Amino acid sequence: MLGIRELYASLSVIAAISTLAVYCLYFSRFNTRGVLWWAAAMSSYLLCLILMTFRGYIPPFFSSFIANIAATAGYVFFWFGIRIFFKRQLTSSVLCCGLFLFALVTISSAITLDHPTLAAGKVLIIGINYSTINFLTAYELLKNARHSDTAKVLAAINIINAVIINFRGINILLTQSYNMYYTTGWTTSAYVLWTSASLLITTLGLLMLIVEELHSKLARQAIEDPLTGIFNRRALHTITPNEFLDLKNSNPSLGLLMLDIDHFKAVNDTYGHTTGDALLKHFAEQVSGCLRSTDSFYRIGGEEFLIMVLDATPETLLRLGERIRKHIEQTPLLTNLAPIYHTVSIGCSLSNGHDTSIESLLERADLALYSAKSHGRNYVQLPDVA
Ligand code: GH3
Ligand code: MG
Ligand code: MG
Repeated sequence: MLGIRELYASLSVIAAISTLAVYCLYFSRFNTRGVLWWAAAMSSYLLCLILMTFRGYIPPFFSSFIANIAATAGYVFFWFGIRIFFKRQLTSSVLCCGLFLFALVTISSAITLDHPTLAAGKVLIIGINYSTINFLTAYELLKNARHSDTAKVLAAINIINAVIINFRGINILLTQSYNMYYTTGWTTSAYVLWTSASLLITTLGLLMLIVEELHSKLARQAIEDPLTGIFNRRALHTITPNEFLDLKNSNPSLGLLMLDIDHFKAVNDTYGHTTGDALLKHFAEQVSGCLRSTDSFYRIGGEEFLIMVLDATPETLLRLGERIRKHIEQTPLLTNLAPIYHTVSIGCSLSNGHDTSIESLLERADLALYSAKSHGRNYVQLPDVA
């Protein structure tokens, strides 16, 4: 069987690999929010484990007192890193809580340093502290990433760690067998093995969290128009024929409104491309304000937009189209030079029993839009008239 020193030495090697991996993540081109805190946490665990490996060869001030402080710092840094990763502030209450737990471990370690008889109490206090941070970390993970299995695994590891550390503290207190944890035995071996596994899984979990976030960011970017922040044309074409039929079957009628800003080229020519862009953003904001939460809004071309309305009738389409048309007509873009008044033409289409994909509806909306332009623009063309 391996001796305690060899066990801690092998754990230190694993902690060194984990630390290196997290620093690599920090210096990579991935999103590094919170990762520096995790790197600091891993470095602190590594310091603690190296000091514990040399217990007996170095003064207890290092192998016990500094080791405890380093481990506590590691737990607190890890918690902070998780918060920052999920874009949560390190509020003054969070900082105070971290500082308080840190101070408690420091004071209890300092008091018991020259009093081995008090060591069991120290292990209990430290255990309660560590598990408090474990629970706070698990809470943060479960609250902010409810749909991520990785977050659930990381939270489970934190909860198991909290249970083990308290079990250890209570066991030492009850049996007064503090020394047993510094000699080899199945409990120590099991504890060190579990810690090694949890360190490795945690490191992999952090990498997975970053990959998951990157993936959802890319997926979002792929269907989002960068100028206006609404859906782009690709988002519209991600609706497969099957999804379209589902949508059609679950709604009495599916309606489309195709919008095209009138004489937009003249805005670009008169005020410049930048003002043209500002007008597109302004237009998207104004139209968004006229929509319900069930309506989907897309930018399908330069100054062409599309609204998908569930549960539509010719009357509701006309009402929505007219509301948008009037609102746009009355809401100019305010610039330093002059307010830029503009209008919009709108073509509508409604699904019927023959539609098998969104394409035929788009074609009819396009025809209706053409008809609205022919009516002199600033006009809403209903589907049945097209
Ligand atoms: P109509 O009333 O017939 O719709 O006339 P229009 O001038 O609005 O239509 P046209 O299709 O002739 O012009 C559209 C212009 O939109 C041409 C193009 O330069 C401009 N455009 C396309 N994309 C962008 C963009 O992202 N930003 C800006 N500023 N202009 C764009
Ligand atoms: Mg156009
Ligand atoms: Mg136009």
